[in-house]
Amino acid sequence: NYSSDRITATLFPGDGIGPEIAESVKQVFNAAEVPIEWEEHFVGTEVDPRTQSFLTWESLESVRRNKVGLKGPMATPIGKGHRSLNLTLRKELNLYANVRPCYSLPGYKTRYDDVVRGVVESLKIITRQASLRVAEYAFYYAKTHGRERVSAVHKANIMQKTDGLFLKCCREVAEKYPEIKYEEVVIDNCCMMLVKNPTLFDVLVMPNLYGDIISDLCAGLIGGLGLTPSLNIGEGGIALAEAVHGSAPDIAGKNLANPTALLLSAVSMLHHLDLTEKADKIQDAVLKTIAEGKYRTGDLGGTSTTTEFTKAIIDHL
Ligand code: NAD
Repeated sequence: NYSSDRITATLFPGDGIGPEIAESVKQVFNAAEVPIEWEEHFVGTEVDPRTQSFLTWESLESVRRNKVGLKGPMATPIGKGHRSLNLTLRKELNLYANVRPCYSLPGYKTRYDDVVRGVVESLKIITRQASLRVAEYAFYYAKTHGRERVSAVHKANIMQKTDGLFLKCCREVAEKYPEIKYEEVVIDNCCMMLVKNPTLFDVLVMPNLYGDIISDLCAGLIGGLGLTPSLNIGEGGIALAEAVHGSAPDIAGKNLANPTALLLSAVSMLHHLDLTEKADKIQDAVLKTIAEGKYRTGDLGGTSTTTEFTKAIIDHL
């Protein structure tokens, strides 16, 4: 896959605003001449008995084969007996770590200019094996990204058994990385400290539910859900990039969505593929467009449509 001239990657446009922001990524990738062929897969209209969800077996096989993909938001179907689409992907592809970098974007003014540099979150943790695996990934991430500190976020004062086990595993892994500072923070206190002074933190590691909540809080610190990317890391080298936000049904189909979060997720996919030059080029164009302030979508206080904002990015490439 990596050695051929063109790389095949799976693309799930997803639901709601998904197809609109996925279109933006496709156009920007074309303009930047990124050597990627998309293999598009759509959420089905009926349950596939092999996956017990609206995702087909073929879709899962596509990610397994390509080992890399980009995913738009997927709405959880309401009704009994169906697995959540996101849960199906996480379970079937063993996506055990979800990396959610969160940093201030230069040129977009919020309450803070230098927010916490990273969030790493994991699946809901109840086993020793899964806790060790995600802790190991957090320390590995910190080391390979030149980070100084890992904070484990927990509620072990109340959830003594589950969160207690999670902390025990984090401590074990921390011992193997003496060059990285390790600390433990109760989630309540973590929320307060993030709002008061986000620069206190560097890399955070926590079970899935806490990660969902904390990463939305962090998104709020830097300008909202339209801006925050993520990358799911799975066993066997699978990487599935996705925005942190959902399908935003309130603005779907209206050409109002901010594609930045999915674009920056696509950029992290390019970094994973070592297409560094293309990744930097696209990231620069996105950040320049936002900093310039002429074309911004409604969530950032502007009046541009998704297509106008996308065109402005392409003009910057
Ligand atoms: P949401 O993230 O879809 O929307 C929350 C708010 O943020 C809305 O006001 C929305 O308009 C705004 N918003 C989100 N993304 C935006 C963007 N790119 N540009 C501009 N504004 C944006 O959260 P929700 O409403 O709680 O969930 C809607 C659906 O999405 C649900 O079915 C939920 O299950 C699903 N969901 C999926 C994922 C995923 O696929 N990873 C994540 C979260 C929620």
